[in-house]
Amino acid sequence: MTGHGLVAGPFRLRWAICAVLLIVAACARDPVETRYRFTAMGTLVEVTIFDHPPLEAEAAARDVETLFLDLQHRWDPWDDGPLGRLNQALAAGGSVQVDPGLAAIIDRSNDIARASGGAFDPAVGSLVKLWGFDDAANIPDRPPSSMTIRTALEAMQPLPGIWDPSTATVATAPGVAIDLGGFAKGEAVDRAISLLQEHGVANAIVNAGGDLRAIGRRGNRPWRIGVREPRLEGVLAAIEVSGDQSVFTSGDYERFFELEGRRYHHILDPRTGYPSQGLISVTVLADNAATADAACTALMVSGPERWPGVASGLGLDKVMVVEDTGVIQITPAMHGKVRLLREDRPDLQIREIP
Ligand code: ADP
Ligand code: MG
Repeated sequence: MTGHGLVAGPFRLRWAICAVLLIVAACARDPVETRYRFTAMGTLVEVTIFDHPPLEAEAAARDVETLFLDLQHRWDPWDDGPLGRLNQALAAGGSVQVDPGLAAIIDRSNDIARASGGAFDPAVGSLVKLWGFDDAANIPDRPPSSMTIRTALEAMQPLPGIWDPSTATVATAPGVAIDLGGFAKGEAVDRAISLLQEHGVANAIVNAGGDLRAIGRRGNRPWRIGVREPRLEGVLAAIEVSGDQSVFTSGDYERFFELEGRRYHHILDPRTGYPSQGLISVTVLADNAATADAACTALMVSGPERWPGVASGLGLDKVMVVEDTGVIQITPAMHGKVRLLREDRPDLQIREIP
């Protein structure tokens, strides 16, 4: 017995030490969430990193901030960065050759302009400026005159007509200015995620004003994301994402003014020169943020009848739109992903669109 006791003593002690070590290890590895916020591209950007050493996570998030601020300058249509200089050169007349960095993003937005049948078109810059939606801090209180809108519209030329990808040149187009506002945030989010991955981050969300891309998971559960209710305060739907997915929403509530009972907002229909009509919000779930961002803008412009055709042209199957009547149209693939938090409301109409 004594012999046994002598063996059992150190054996038990070893177990006890092991148990303590396991608990300490478990505590030390208790997943932490690092959050980092900054303002860029006219919006609050939040980087959330899960289960990564906090100091490293914060360093990675700071790099994301630097990236966003750099892109904000480079893609500002009216500042002195590459896009601003391109627009100044276009205004002065003559064709303009674009540097490779800017050419790559113009080329991608050109592809989306084509695929969306012109509903998305970054060549709307002069119209956006005419309406005064270029400066989020100074939204006007009335529309420009119909004559100035007509003049700007006549001068506008669709991007695919003036962009030559083989020479990276924008053709002479007096009156045309390029505005990447419907796409830049998405492209920046994609680049931010790549940057985090280079830092070894596997679980994160980069959220730019409610538009986001998520990678990995939040520990043992997916990331939970809310879609804003376009008119009332609060959340319209909840989406769970894991792996690598982007959720973007465009709506008529971001930059707008109201006059005589009508709402004028910042997404312009390149065919009419006026704010798009019929849809008050569009949510797209896609693999990459740039596509999701541009697609939301394109579908807002396409309107309640034409959006499904444009969505399939863009290769999207997860879309939810809210009509100005309150009707929600949703694709089956999207319906499987979201929980509509207003589903209990009897006045709510939800239409599944194949
Ligand atoms: P937000 O940036 O508020 O999320 P969007 O992604 O829909 O909204 O982008 C709207 C911005 O896109 C406008 O502020 C303007 O700069 C630009 N824009 C407006 N209309 C169009 C259009 N038809 N095609 C491409 N860009 C557009
Ligand atoms: Mg957009």
